[in-house]
Amino acid sequence: MPKSPLKSRASHAPRPSVRGVPFEVVTSRRRRLHVPHRSRHVPASEWRDYPRPVPDAWHGFARDKGFRIHGRIRDRYHVALECDACGGLTAHKSYTLRTAQPRCGACAEADLADAARAAGLTFLRRVGRDHHYGLYRAACGHVVKRQFEFVERVAARKTDLRCETSLRSRERDEAARQGWDRIGRDPNGNPNYRIYRHSCGHVQRVARVNMSWGQVKCAGCGGAWNARESYIYLLRIEIPGTAFHVLKLGFSRTPVKRFRHQLGLPRGARVELVRVLPMATGHDACAKKSATHASLRRRHPDAVVPLEVYAGILTVRSEVYEAWAFDLIMAHLDRIEAAHPPT
Ligand SMILES: [Zn+2]
Ligand SMILES: [Zn+2]
Ligand SMILES: [Zn+2]
Repeated sequence: MPKSPLKSRASHAPRPSVRGVPFEVVTSRRRRLHVPHRSRHVPASEWRDYPRPVPDAWHGFARDKGFRIHGRIRDRYHVALECDACGGLTAHKSYTLRTAQPRCGACAEADLADAARAAGLTFLRRVGRDHHYGLYRAACGHVVKRQFEFVERVAARKTDLRCETSLRSRERDEAARQGWDRIGRDPNGNPNYRIYRHSCGHVQRVARVNMSWGQVKCAGCGGAWNARESYIYLLRIEIPGTAFHVLKLGFSRTPVKRFRHQLGLPRGARVELVRVLPMATGHDACAKKSATHASLRRRHPDAVVPLEVYAGILTVRSEVYEAWAFDLIMAHLDRIEAAHPPT
């Protein structure tokens, strides 16, 4: 996209939140044409040139508002405007050109791409006709569908992106380590349970947290797994209705059954076990966790939550991280897992 050195993108219009400027893209023309969402019912074929002269006054309106008139389009009411800042084409009513500040659809799209980049995502495209959602490629490589508003919150480092595909594949790995297949969600709709099939063929409903720790006994063959390992674990802790949202990395010699109690969490706090890595020995687990913490503290000091922030909330004293550091921590855990394949 050519960028004019004369005007910055922000100069010709106030920039409302990227959510407020829905456009469709018509691709059947020689150049991409951005069409306001309210005209989404108009078939692409109707956005053809309308070869009549452009009234002189329109050129002046366009110039004042940061555009050049590319030509008339569709019918006598519409005009294709070329943005001075980005060179993109947007269809508007000539009435809008005369009486208001038209928005450039290409700039709006660039805003979405900027917000995505700030959130560590790649913007792919809007989702069909739903002007609240876009498709993005996440750092893990998966395509995720998210609300624009959510992406802005990730960009503002208020939350992290949870990729369902990656989560499912982690759950499959956790189950495989214990000799189970993850089959699906809980038919009763409990978000903490999954359906698993044991290696003996028996199918059973098990809490995901128990599967992660290997605390599961097969009701078909009676097979149970003996915990002889130590664990590195990652928890997500949120207090709904507040800005408190952190990640806690830890290690334990036994499956941690009562996070709430062990962390001294207040009522109403939400705790989610994100990941468990079994390690052969407690020494290993503790050393790896400490090395991860040291590396994060050195290379991403801003990811470490200062003790003052959670002093009155959690009883732990360290290894508490900002929600946005999710990918960083997961990448560390990936490396540890790769170096210590499950036995
Ligand atoms: Zn533009
Ligand atoms: Zn993913
Ligand atoms: Zn079994």
